[in-house]
Amino acid sequence: MESQELWKAVLGEIELQISRPNFLTWLKQSQLVGKNERDGVALVSLPNNFAKEWVKNRYHKIILGSLRNFDPSIKNIDYSVSHQTTDGGGVSLATQNKRGVGEEKNELNQQLPLELKVDPKTNLNPRYTLESFIVGSSNELAYAAIQAVIKDVGKKYNPLFVYGGVGLGKTHLIQGAGNEIIKHYQKNIAVLYVTSEKFLNDVVSGIRNKRIDDMKKKYRDVDVLIIDDIQFIGGKATTEQEFFHTFNALYENNKQIIISSDRPPSAIPTLEERLRSRFEGGMIADISYPDYEMRLAILKTKTQKKGVIIEDKILEHIASKVQKNIRELEGVLNKVVFYIQHKNGIDGKKLDDIINETTQTISKNITVQEIIKTVADFFEVPQVDLTDRSRKKEVVEPRQIAMYLLRDILKLSYPHIGEKLGKRDHTTAIHACEKIEKEINKNQQFNQKIMLIKERLYKS
Ligand code: ADP
Ligand code: MG
Repeated sequence: MESQELWKAVLGEIELQISRPNFLTWLKQSQLVGKNERDGVALVSLPNNFAKEWVKNRYHKIILGSLRNFDPSIKNIDYSVSHQTTDGGGVSLATQNKRGVGEEKNELNQQLPLELKVDPKTNLNPRYTLESFIVGSSNELAYAAIQAVIKDVGKKYNPLFVYGGVGLGKTHLIQGAGNEIIKHYQKNIAVLYVTSEKFLNDVVSGIRNKRIDDMKKKYRDVDVLIIDDIQFIGGKATTEQEFFHTFNALYENNKQIIISSDRPPSAIPTLEERLRSRFEGGMIADISYPDYEMRLAILKTKTQKKGVIIEDKILEHIASKVQKNIRELEGVLNKVVFYIQHKNGIDGKKLDDIINETTQTISKNITVQEIIKTVADFFEVPQVDLTDRSRKKEVVEPRQIAMYLLRDILKLSYPHIGEKLGKRDHTTAIHACEKIEKEINKNQQFNQKIMLIKERLYKS
């Protein structure tokens, strides 16, 4: 049998054994390149490295079994990457990066470890710098306030309260401030960054383990306390009280407090009055939506940083279409870069597909159930294994990914997430989300996997 025919037959068999989306994602673009007659090793090619690893790990047995049904002389399979675009047809709008692909990869790898080096003492991620923070009309007030704080820590604007919608750069800005302060004062200053949930967690476990004094010391010994997403604190009496005391202790000692929230203090309904008035006594700065010019500037800067060359036409198109926030802009850009690097280019239609996919994510109402089902299908594990207390090893990661997606997409609270996935403790959910996020930053292939799951979610 000809390779091509043989492969068609094999795929026909496999198609019946695995789910349709998995088949389309992983095997549709595979090819049987040939067979080494001497040792009976067949060579199967996949469109990219990611698919190669995935197929090798997940479907090797099925493929080998099926191949041998048709050709018993086949003893084993080698997998390779084909490197040719199977999309075909469309005009490539994107210019290929002028430097070698290998070089590019190296650079990427060199950048990645940085993401991981979250300083355990300060909790700051060095990726967030003020140099890489692009300033425009939507955030210049907040940026100016941050600059003033850095110059005059604890004196000028205290507390500084930054608010704005999701993905507009609050975390980047306040962490950037933390990093800048450390640089400026050459480590002679103690900075601590926490999310309000981490704070909550510390308070709860402090009480539980009777180590509340340690917890108090940790927070009151700092010179700069940065608390992200304070809106989650509202309504939790013990935490709020603890926070209030910490706040007062720091404030009275002229220590700097920087707070972020998705809305102004007046719009956090559950926030205790005395905390609200404390917040309002400092400086409040908002970050609003970036305009077209700024969106384009952001895309250009980020593209340059990645060392990729993308035509202006493409960037302008993205800037005009993606208006919601900077996180979406980045999401679209990352996918476009992926296409350019792995598929030799991108045509107008694909570009629009990517944009729609990424921007619809928020408008489409995705349910908890859909997320669980999509993850289960993707990994080919039963849904109940994710939602009951199963300790099977093979469902650990899928469950963590489901937790992460419930958080990332639906913004569910950690206790709620734990409850939905096997009645687990909220700390389990926090741990899972943190772990997956780390992995995404560190591991390109893992990141692709998450992207594929999301793609399915939004398409379904
Ligand atoms: P928020 O905390 O408001 O939800 P983030 O700070 O997490 O938003 O920002 C989302 C993404 O957009 C991050 O990757 C961040 O680096 C990037 N980003 C946001 N604002 C800017 C900016 N002004 N310049 C450069 N990157 C930005
Ligand atoms: Mg944030």
